[in-house]
Amino acid sequence: MPNPKRKMSKSRRDKRRTHHKAVPPTVGACPNCNEMKLAHAACKSCGYYNGRRIIEEAEA
Ligand SMILES: [Zn+2]
Repeated sequence: MPNPKRKMSKSRRDKRRTHHKAVPPTVGACPNCNEMKLAHAACKSCGYYNGRRIIEEAEA
């Protein structure tokens, strides 16, 4: 089985992980109702995405 020849030091391992971090979700105002909504997702309050309503049960 292929395996790393040398143990990676804690320092190298942790340096690699400096790029591993949680990022806050991108939010923006809905162009239809101006509520905050997640980017690239339908608005939760009015159900609009890309200029048209795609979630029917949501009230505008
Ligand atoms: Zn909306």
